[in-house]
Amino acid sequence: MKILIVEDTRTNLLIITQYVQRFGSVAIQAETGARAIEVFQSERPDIVLLDIILPDMDGFTVAQRLRGLEENGGWTPIIFLSSLNKDEDIERGIAAGGDDYLAKPVSEVVLGAKIRAMQRIIQMRTSLVVLARKLDVANRELKRLSASDGLTGIPNRRLFDEYISREWRRARRGTNSIALMMCDVDHFKPYNDTYGHQAGDDCLRRVAHAIQQTMERAADIVARYGGEEFAVVLPETQIGGALFLAEKIRHAVHELHIPHSGSAQGRVTLSIGIAATIPGPDAAQEELIEAADRALYQAKHAGRDRVCRAEATFSL
Ligand code: GH3
Ligand code: MG
Ligand code: MG
Ligand code: MG
Repeated sequence: MKILIVEDTRTNLLIITQYVQRFGSVAIQAETGARAIEVFQSERPDIVLLDIILPDMDGFTVAQRLRGLEENGGWTPIIFLSSLNKDEDIERGIAAGGDDYLAKPVSEVVLGAKIRAMQRIIQMRTSLVVLARKLDVANRELKRLSASDGLTGIPNRRLFDEYISREWRRARRGTNSIALMMCDVDHFKPYNDTYGHQAGDDCLRRVAHAIQQTMERAADIVARYGGEEFAVVLPETQIGGALFLAEKIRHAVHELHIPHSGSAQGRVTLSIGIAATIPGPDAAQEELIEAADRALYQAKHAGRDRVCRAEATFSL
């Protein structure tokens, strides 16, 4: 334990230093207010014993300054040691940020007891800080879990809804295009029927991973929209960029070479519908979702394993 002793009277400084050392603590000395502030910053003591009458400034001012220097959420106990022992002095000391007030001359026993009491508070406070940090970590993990899909680990539908709403509003405020991609695994029901539900789950995990790997921009997100459907939100993206990425995704899944005897391609494939728009002031995000859904339907209808864009159904 490091204890900063701020005391301008040499004999007092020596006596208190001896007390502190006898308690097994390290004593750091300062004989002026300015020096106390300096040492406080460089040494970060655990407790401060602070005289009130000092040559350059009074102890109340020093206490206030020290409080201002504490790191966010930090707390260093300050005990005033003073020959000023009127009620008002004590009141002022506590108001200035002191935690206790001892009248000089200070007895070794009383000082030792006060320091022990402060140590106890420091320990309790430290455990609280540790606990708060753990709670913070747990909360963040909880938040992450509540936003991710249990099977694939990618963002879930809830996060998708939030994300697209936010990005839609942003696009509406500006003049940026926003694009949406709906991806659906082809013939997935027969896949499950042939290879079993467990293999179906593995397949979804691999497809989700392949889509995620293909994406490059931080603002682009892929979410599990439903059973074997994935939605990709592309903020600030026009149809051309979305088409390019969709083709990359379709290709990536194709190249996974996941065998699928029930598909004409002999492997697992994706159909993708895309839509993009610069939303007008009254445009609803559902229009974008519906347009991408219609394009997906077209892709299915046209033979699957392909990308279709919303055409006349959705104006750019
Ligand atoms: P299409 O090419 O037209 O999309 O045909 P499809 O068979 O993929 O479409 P359909 O909607 O008929 O079937 C989807 C299947 O996806 C049915 C369902 O059992 C399966 N599925 C949905 N969620 C999961 C899941 O979490 N795990 C597994 N293994 N299968 C799932
Ligand atoms: Mg003094
Ligand atoms: Mg489907
Ligand atoms: Mg499907």
